[in-house]
Amino acid sequence: MNRHVILGGGVAGRRAAEVIRKRAAEAEIVIVDEQEEAFYYRPMLGELLAGKLGPEQIISRDKERLSQLGVKVLAGTQVASLDPKAQEVVLGSGERLSFDKALIASGSRTEKIAGDDGKGRGIVYLDTLPEALYMASLLGSARNALIYGASLQAINAVRGLRARGIDCSLVLPEERFWQGVLDPIASEILEDRLNQEGVTLIKQTEIKDLVWEDGELKGVIPSKGEKLPADLLVVASPQDPRLDYLKGSDLVGKNGVVVDQNLRTKYENIFAAGDVAGLPAVHTGEVLPQPGWLSAWRQGNMAGLNMAGQEAVYSGFPSLRTKALDLDVVCLGLSDPQGEDVKEESGDYPYDELPYIYKKIVYKDRRVVGAVFIGDASEAGAVEGWIRKGLKADECDKKVLDQMFLPRLQASSALGALCPICKFQMQLGEQVEDGSIETCPACGVRFRLDRMPNGAFRAVLGD
Ligand SMILES: Cc1cc2nc3c(=O)[nH]c(=O)nc-3n(C[C@H](O)[C@H](O)[C@H](O)COP(=O)(O)OP(=O)(O)OC[C@H]3O[C@@H](n4cnc5c(N)ncnc54)[C@H](O)[C@@H]3O)c2cc1C
Repeated sequence: MNRHVILGGGVAGRRAAEVIRKRAAEAEIVIVDEQEEAFYYRPMLGELLAGKLGPEQIISRDKERLSQLGVKVLAGTQVASLDPKAQEVVLGSGERLSFDKALIASGSRTEKIAGDDGKGRGIVYLDTLPEALYMASLLGSARNALIYGASLQAINAVRGLRARGIDCSLVLPEERFWQGVLDPIASEILEDRLNQEGVTLIKQTEIKDLVWEDGELKGVIPSKGEKLPADLLVVASPQDPRLDYLKGSDLVGKNGVVVDQNLRTKYENIFAAGDVAGLPAVHTGEVLPQPGWLSAWRQGNMAGLNMAGQEAVYSGFPSLRTKALDLDVVCLGLSDPQGEDVKEESGDYPYDELPYIYKKIVYKDRRVVGAVFIGDASEAGAVEGWIRKGLKADECDKKVLDQMFLPRLQASSALGALCPICKFQMQLGEQVEDGSIETCPACGVRFRLDRMPNGAFRAVLGD
């Protein structure tokens, strides 16, 4: 019997298990995950902090699904190392698990800030449900909160803190918000929205030291200016791939576990998917992490197909899909490129009528290579296809371009709605109406459709 061992039971690992089972009814499939809890939607942790959703609402409804599929899950079990040559995974207990094929899907996490030995009270990392619950338990007594960094965790922390009426400041090492992903206009829009929410931005500043008193955090010492008082610090610096059990392994490159377009590592029978993987971006071929929920789901899907013996090619590129407070944000491919061969096209969005709306397409050598959507991402699915196919400007659908750049045009509901979890753009059938319950074809979450005043649909978790 073929044994497939999956290291990590997040969105990438679970999706791969489902796909393998569909194509290999007899295969033994084992997921090893250090997490005790049932599978849950990490992008919803901010809603949990805000008190809008309870833990039971962000835990996947189909928690029995894997056991129904005959997938064995070793929950609460850590992987200590992986021996590619012996084809064995060593568990924390010392037990060895042999495999015919393995998938590395251990995700990423926030690195600890210097000075935090884990013993004091007042520092939180928002990577997991237990960490979100711990943070929620501190909110009752918090008065001054600092968020350090601008990862997706930062925006979730802002959501929770402001909903509970706690003052917060965002300390950013960079010059502007989501620098490197957003262009200056888009950064300014989000900074403006954060200011409106009552968040103070402290830019181009690093945290040099932590100030403790009797084991409780009292503030931080910034790289410039005076001590910043804080009784809560949310560390939201960029994520690092989870590679602790792969120390010294030849599987690891500078951007995670290196894989090709089949998600295969240098070992024929070992694959990697999700935040832990570094893979070639379509067109440029540059090996980069392509983190994010939808990317992880898609990579898990492709890795699963290849592990089941199919030849499936993953053609993705870095993207960012999230909700920043109440604004949908989708950045695709090269969203803030420089250079003479780059041309950008954007609409004229009147701020007083359409605050926080911004859309842009980036062309390089006349081909679509990137896009930014803020506030409304109705056309993101179509544009993503153009980037993947490398369409030239004059090959793009004019109706979609008009809808993007003529902001007063009534939105076409035929373009679909964004999934509240993974931000996949779903095509909606003619029969959908306000209140319809649908399932995302990408991540499988169920949601309700609310019709917005411009005719477009918005997907909301829960029914
Ligand atoms: C608060 C928050 C908000 C987010 N918001 C968004 C968003 O809006 N949009 C978006 O696209 N993405 C968002 N993300 C990121 C998204 O959740 C990740 O990109 C996605 O979960 C990656 O999936 P994955 O399967 O690669 O890894 P994960 O979901 O991290 O799963 C990896 C699993 O591996 C396990 N593991 C790790 N090491 C070991 C080991 N040694 N032994 C055993 N098990 C191990 C972990 O416990 C974990 O369960 C957010 C994340 C957080 C935390």
